[in-house]
Amino acid sequence: MQKGSQTVTERSAPYDVSPLSQSRQGDMACETLYVRKHVQGGRLAESGAAARGTEIHRILSVYIDHLVRTRRATDLEVFDSLLKSVGAEAREVLERFRDNHAFDPERILATELHIALDENFLPIEDPGGEGRTAEYEGTLDLVTLHSVTEAEIDDWKSYYQIIDADTFQSQFYPLLLMCLNPSLERVKFVLEFIRYGASRCAEYTRKDLPWLKELTQTERARQEDLHKLASRGERELKASPGRHCTWCPLLLNGCPVAETNPYGQMSAEERLRFALWLQEAEKHNTRVLKDLMVERGSVRYRDENQTEYVADFVPMEKKFYPYRDAASILDQWFRAHPDERALRDRLTISGLSSPLKAAKRAGLAQRLADIADVRVETDLRIGRERRNGREEQES
Ligand code: SF4
Repeated sequence: MQKGSQTVTERSAPYDVSPLSQSRQGDMACETLYVRKHVQGGRLAESGAAARGTEIHRILSVYIDHLVRTRRATDLEVFDSLLKSVGAEAREVLERFRDNHAFDPERILATELHIALDENFLPIEDPGGEGRTAEYEGTLDLVTLHSVTEAEIDDWKSYYQIIDADTFQSQFYPLLLMCLNPSLERVKFVLEFIRYGASRCAEYTRKDLPWLKELTQTERARQEDLHKLASRGERELKASPGRHCTWCPLLLNGCPVAETNPYGQMSAEERLRFALWLQEAEKHNTRVLKDLMVERGSVRYRDENQTEYVADFVPMEKKFYPYRDAASILDQWFRAHPDERALRDRLTISGLSSPLKAAKRAGLAQRLADIADVRVETDLRIGRERRNGREEQES
């Protein structure tokens, strides 16, 4: 049952709760961070990473709007002139984007599309101007319509790490778009890691709307509870360290758990030194442990809770199928079982990268490069940097 808009205003007014957005939801991971930033307010310094992100979003929005106006797929001259106005960090990220992105201007619905919904998930054209209060909002970087029923949301990320599209944002933005446009049956949400030219995506259909709404309402209720908590002052706000500390302005000045917060105890450089020490210590310890176990076998240890731990040499069977024989067997199988097409499409061959580096196989390497499915991922690499700038894996 839909509630009247009057109820919405009455319920929200005492706490002056801003609409739930993906960034506010992110800040809710720590009560102290959220209240300091969104209840007590005040101007908090923007981090370097946030400033870089803002610059990148501005340039891409101006560029894509230009492509739509001029009905072009790319315009590198204009892109290059826009690049002149950004800082070195943003330019480094955007230069990659320059060469691997083209658009179909006819399909682009909007850039920086701001969507506001009321508590019944109905769109509000003019937040604050219709007597209805926005409870949910988001600004979608790029929305492309593939058909009347299918759309895609692209979200630009300049992160250094590639992450999966399983965040609150990846669920929240398709919800916003499907509520704005009732004809959409399917929405694809794409995280575009423009630094690497890689992406990760998630898809939702109208059938997902009930649980997406429920999830969003739960987060909205948590947000309202935080405002109530802050205004009543019934108890101390919790401070919960986590990844969000990396963008929290209180990290170095005012974090209530500064003494134990792992994010504030060491600088990034100190963390790297510590990681190198741990790496060496782990290698050394494992070597000695293995030597001890060669003669005496497994080692057991029981903690005070009677939980037992064991180090043991365990035989592991790893199967390798020789290409020479396996290829023809698989071919026969797939010919006899057409319903196994999905399995055939998933099969890949490993162990080729090294042999393909040989000069005599350049032709083969070229042919295989055309069919290779390249998936870019980010691995944490800790090692020695060579003088010529290349990095070397330590372990
Ligand atoms: S630095 Fe402290 S206040 Fe800020 S998010 Fe982390 S735990 Fe919360």
